[in-house]
Amino acid sequence: MKYERSYNFSAGPAMMPEAVLEEIRNEMMNYRGSGMCVMEMSHRSKAFQQIADQAEADLRALMHIPDNYKVLFLQGGGTVQFAMVAMNLMKNGKACYLETGAWSKKAIAEAKKYGEVIIAASSADKNFSYIPDGSDLDIPADCDYVYICENETIHGTTYRRLPDTKGHILVSDQSSMFLSRPCDVTKYGLIWAGVQKNVGPAGMAVVIIREDLLRDDLPAFVPTYMNYKVHADNGSMYNTPNCWAIYCCGKVFRYLLEQGGLEAMEQRNEEKAKVLYDFLDSSSLFRGAVVQADRSVMNVPFVTGSKELDAEVVAAAKAAGFDNLKGHKSVGGLRASIYNAMPREGVEALVEFLREFEANHK
Ligand SMILES: *Cc1c(COP(=O)(O)O)cnc(C)c1O
Repeated sequence: MKYERSYNFSAGPAMMPEAVLEEIRNEMMNYRGSGMCVMEMSHRSKAFQQIADQAEADLRALMHIPDNYKVLFLQGGGTVQFAMVAMNLMKNGKACYLETGAWSKKAIAEAKKYGEVIIAASSADKNFSYIPDGSDLDIPADCDYVYICENETIHGTTYRRLPDTKGHILVSDQSSMFLSRPCDVTKYGLIWAGVQKNVGPAGMAVVIIREDLLRDDLPAFVPTYMNYKVHADNGSMYNTPNCWAIYCCGKVFRYLLEQGGLEAMEQRNEEKAKVLYDFLDSSSLFRGAVVQADRSVMNVPFVTGSKELDAEVVAAAKAAGFDNLKGHKSVGGLRASIYNAMPREGVEALVEFLREFEANHK
């Protein structure tokens, strides 16, 4: 492999496209004649404003984001959004959450600090190995929003169909699937994503919020930084933003457009995941941890059934150049995160490795 880079199967921070990293390297010491690196640049400079504007325009083009939605680049990663969503959107102090794993549990725990949380559906009964039916949820009339984690990074599930919110606002944590497939933004009131899974460096979240959800009348306890409207009114530059992350994410947005956009990414991701799932379905040693219909195309947890053997696979894989395959402690076993930037060859090489491991452990 060029540069002797690993196939990095980390759930995040994760691989970025090599072409993007090369571009960043080439602009590192002197960004386009500015005489400085983007890391050294004032966020109020013309050059940086251009970078931020282009990043937003390219993201809007990629996702076909309608004009009545604001795009925000916010700090605090994904976790801050658990609180921010509840603080900004709980008008009646009541929201429905679908509990599908570790990340929705965290969102629920945080939202409970600010209002009443109704668990409208849950897959806790089977260790979150499936997506609960969302076609006929019991949603109270005064519920402020319905919240989902659209792709469960740890448990490896994804929504193939959005729940019926019965006219209520849908809020989605798209962190580990952001830009992996086309998305009809009009179905949501708010989409947010920590970018270090499928886009860029850690420490930033993208928020896409419908304009009518921005509020001037938030309770006084809400910190200024936690008010979406403050960021919307200031073009995500109320204070110094995460300039470096905006710059790197912008490069990835542009790269994805050049690759054919989200339709092309979806096709590539589905094909890539099929290579791994087909192997797991036919293996006598390994098996996937999720029901077929709800399997994630991004995060693939799998097990041998023996903790010792799982650990052995992870160690042998690491020695062979496949990094970060250890599963999350709540699921155990292994997990291969195969985001946009993981090349198909990486998945094919992993499957080859697993096949050989299996042959040697008959
Ligand atoms: C990683 C992740 C988060 C949290 O992101 P941080 O930036 O680490 O706070 C939230 N939701 C999902 C689905 C994630 O995968």
